[in-house]
Amino acid sequence: MANLERTGGCVCGAVRFTCQLTDTGLQACHCVQCQRWTGGGPLINVHVETLTFEDESAIGTYHASDWGERCFCSKCGSTLCWKMQGKPSRSVAVGLLDDQTELAMSEEIFVDRRPDWLPVWPAAGQSTEAQEIVKLQDYLEGEKNDQV
Ligand SMILES: [Zn+2]
Ligand SMILES: [Zn+2]
Repeated sequence: MANLERTGGCVCGAVRFTCQLTDTGLQACHCVQCQRWTGGGPLINVHVETLTFEDESAIGTYHASDWGERCFCSKCGSTLCWKMQGKPSRSVAVGLLDDQTELAMSEEIFVDRRPDWLPVWPAAGQSTEAQEIVKLQDYLEGEKNDQV
């Protein structure tokens, strides 16, 4: 059984956290925003049950869409996590973890945005931008209904 309790942080160390992974699967997002945000390649996330920051004062946020929020270290610029606005984070960028052992790619999304130079992870589930937009619209519709 893999150890799901992990620690991690940004390049400069101003942001440190502990998290409990949901599982050992990785998710790669090939959307254009994630490519630009990481500076090349997909944003690769681990899913987390809990994510607890030691100190949140250095965390910057950017709203690149009406629903999403991108969190980064405002001191060193490190990518931290993508989350729904107003919601707790359900994922964190895998490169932040101090220990990246026992993890494996399980899902690729926005695969039709993958650049030509990047190979496919053949064992991973694949979904397109159109499929992800449908999932997102279902989610946002559900949120609206919950508020009524
Ligand atoms: Zn930093
Ligand atoms: Zn993305």
